[in-house]
Formats: sequence, structure tokens, C-alpha cells
Amino acid sequence: MFKCQFRKCDKEATTKGIVFVMDKGDKDKPVEVYACDKHKKVTSFFESID
Ligand SMILES: [Zn+2]
Repeated sequence: MFKCQFRKCDKEATTKGIVFVMDKGDKDKPVEVYACDKHKKVTSFFESID
């Protein structure tokens, strides 16, 4: 099982999704991440729908 990839979190991930990271003044870049139950609720996280 994957671990949550949010900073300072080591819980088991329950969801896969996307966050957008700033790319040096360029447009935001989507990055695939795994998130736990808590972190999938943060506003910068978008759940993937497979
Ligand atoms: Zn987490």
C-alpha cells in the first residue's frame, strides 16, 4: 500500500489524485499524488476518477 505523500504525513494513502505545483513563473503543473483520508480533503487536492 502507498503512503500519503503530503508533507510530514506517514499515514496509509486511501486515494490517488492530483495537485498543482507552481512551475517557476510558468503555468501550474499537475502532479499525481497519493493521499490519506485527512489530506484528500485539502482544497489543493483533486481526486482522480478512474
Ligand atoms: Zn496524509
